[in-house]
Amino acid sequence: MKKILIVPVLLLAGFLVAAQTRQKKALFVIVDGIPRDVIKKVSTPFIDSIAAAGAFLDAYVGGEKNGYSQTPTISAVGYNSLLTGTWFNKHNVWDNDIAAPNYSYWTIFRYFKNAFPDKRTAIFSTWLDNRTKLAGDGLPQTGELKTDYHFDGLEHDTIAYPHDKGSLYIHKIDEAIVNHADSVIRKDAPDLTWVYLEFTDDMGHRYGDSKQFYDAIEMMDKQMGRLWNAIQYRQKNFNEDWVIYITTDHGRTADNGKGHGGQSDRERNTWIVTNEKKINPLFKTNTPGIVNIMPSIAAHIGFSLPRENAMETDGVSLTGKIPALDLKATYAAGKINLAWKPIDKKAKGKIWLATTNNFKTGGKDEYQLVKEIKIANGKAQVDVSKTPSSFYKVVLEVNGYFLNRWIIIK
Ligand SMILES: [Zn+2]
Repeated sequence: MKKILIVPVLLLAGFLVAAQTRQKKALFVIVDGIPRDVIKKVSTPFIDSIAAAGAFLDAYVGGEKNGYSQTPTISAVGYNSLLTGTWFNKHNVWDNDIAAPNYSYWTIFRYFKNAFPDKRTAIFSTWLDNRTKLAGDGLPQTGELKTDYHFDGLEHDTIAYPHDKGSLYIHKIDEAIVNHADSVIRKDAPDLTWVYLEFTDDMGHRYGDSKQFYDAIEMMDKQMGRLWNAIQYRQKNFNEDWVIYITTDHGRTADNGKGHGGQSDRERNTWIVTNEKKINPLFKTNTPGIVNIMPSIAAHIGFSLPRENAMETDGVSLTGKIPALDLKATYAAGKINLAWKPIDKKAKGKIWLATTNNFKTGGKDEYQLVKEIKIANGKAQVDVSKTPSSFYKVVLEVNGYFLNRWIIIK
């Protein structure tokens, strides 16, 4: 009898060890300027197969419309919201010039290297600035962040990629980027990879809602198929557990699809596709933002942000427990009124308050614990009459889960 019992126990133990030691890897892809209605309309069999393994989520960009975090629906602005998990009011990239990113709000690459100095990162991009300016590769402001693998800057090589009037050279560059990413993933499997492709946005600007734009999306879908195959090759042949997130940086104008940058629904409405099986079903109805992707990748790979950074992050992980959502905070007559959507009605939380914003300039804020609350209540009031200020940062914490708001009093 004993022998019969021992075998399954050993098998189970072996299985658990193997599961624990699977190397966690992540790939995220930004494909530029594809509105939600268009990705749903155009035939995208590879994207569909990734979604079938995980999820397709409606999503948004642009921060809180008419609120302090309202964010232009412009390319680099959106990329940096993904990278930092924050909106424009924090990361300070408000157009494609990327004049003065606020590197106090770390990117996913910096968080990753901080947690795992010896693991490898990769950026494969049709736009050089993504690595050199947004990620801040090698800059003193990012602690001289190192990107282990990169392939980019081809748009500056006018010999190999002459700039034709139809922008087809951008498609050729996208192809080279995907081929390179495909081979590096298959051969070396970086631990955290960003692929950025541009052609779809160029066709959108040039032709708007058109056959040319839809054709570009079908080409992009095939490129996603190659990356998806590369990941599956690694998972089949190596002890690795990969997550992929694919998203876009903005939608397009409603009239003809040529523009973007504003706050119309079609410019704000985006989407996220992932093979992640553990997406919290709450996000089927509570539309996530592009800022939710960074914390989700962190959760998959298994690193947490330093506490003071987590208190500033505007997105939460799409996986795992969600005790509360949608924190709101308003000021009136010496009191701050807080409201949130209660999810875990048994949970208890803490309200932290700061009147400084030293984090923004690389310093530290002194948060005061002002209230302990029951999440089920869905609201709370904090008397701030003894700490008058024109600016407050409010954080709701539930066991290391954070929601934050700014209050700016004019
Ligand atoms: Zn864009």
